[in-house]
Amino acid sequence: MISRRKALQSLAALSVATMTHALWSPLARAAQSALELGLRGQDLLAAGDAPTALKVLAKAVAQRPDDPWLHGLMGRARLAAGDRRGALEAFRYAVSLDSNDSYSRMMADRIMQTPLPPAPARVFHSPSAVERQAEQERREAASRQDSRRGASGFSVRRVVLDAGHGGFDPGAMGRGGLMEKKVTLDLALRTERILARTAPGLKLYLTRRDDYYLPLSARTAEANRFSADIFVSLHINAGERRAAQGVETYSCSEKASSLEAERLAAYENSVLKLEGKQREQPGFIDMEELLFRFERRRYWDAGARAARRVQNVLTGMLPMRDRGVHSADFYVLRKARMPSVLLETGFISNPDEEAALRREDHRERIASAVATAVAGLYREGV
Ligand SMILES: [Zn+2]
Repeated sequence: MISRRKALQSLAALSVATMTHALWSPLARAAQSALELGLRGQDLLAAGDAPTALKVLAKAVAQRPDDPWLHGLMGRARLAAGDRRGALEAFRYAVSLDSNDSYSRMMADRIMQTPLPPAPARVFHSPSAVERQAEQERREAASRQDSRRGASGFSVRRVVLDAGHGGFDPGAMGRGGLMEKKVTLDLALRTERILARTAPGLKLYLTRRDDYYLPLSARTAEANRFSADIFVSLHINAGERRAAQGVETYSCSEKASSLEAERLAAYENSVLKLEGKQREQPGFIDMEELLFRFERRRYWDAGARAARRVQNVLTGMLPMRDRGVHSADFYVLRKARMPSVLLETGFISNPDEEAALRREDHRERIASAVATAVAGLYREGV
């Protein structure tokens, strides 16, 4: 069964994170117990006990509200309990969290084939704490004049910093054993500290603050919920040639700007295989994707503009080779409802750059350049 396999995959992924961090990562612990509750709910469903399954799954969802698998199970439990409208909402919510959840999509379509009973007053998806706070902060910020709109029409007050990879996904590895996931997390935390000092009005959100795995789709989903104005994903490059070195900045585009850019995007997207991403069925038309295609053109154009400015700041401040600005289809940027950029600050595959990345002063220097670039976007917009 698809959902069982998915659960085992995420459980396997999480148990790696949990084993490593059981003592100091409450998040990993909560995730593990939510998955256990999910599996119990699934067993209860199989045994035909929908009322108990509903209770168990409600607990699981409360602990891990962003897990599409749990919402899919919730949909099945509600359907089994005769609540078709509630089931439809749960399946749709699962799809909104993971557009590749073909099971929930199919179930939602199936429910829609016969008319639904009248809607009750209940709203399934009430705004989360993050969404409510985002809305309030937006209103407050709108009354201040500390950032202005740039040429693309975007002002930047809310920034998501995404430390690439994490948990069972180490990212690129240096010949000396340095892991990309460690460097990106350190850079994100350093950049946050610097920005708190240099741009106190800026609202910053980190997708991860510890060494755990976060699916690519969850990173942009969080940025969307945070209502970010720009999404900045931090990465370290790797190349076949030992000599490859330097800094490059990417934005998202349908077609890669070069073969090199395409290769990099394929590498950064490769973790999708482990996430159990499923292909859409042939002939399936994704309405949300279709509508978003128009909207995202604006984001991607603005992202390209932001990438050029970020690259200028980085190469101006860092003693590293300027490899220019490129674009490719990065899954982690694709679903962001805001301009987004992806930074590759150095090559872990280059022994000299790997050695430099091990040094705190070098990482502080990179973080300082990233913070300056972000603060520039904050002041001038995109
Ligand atoms: Zn990476």
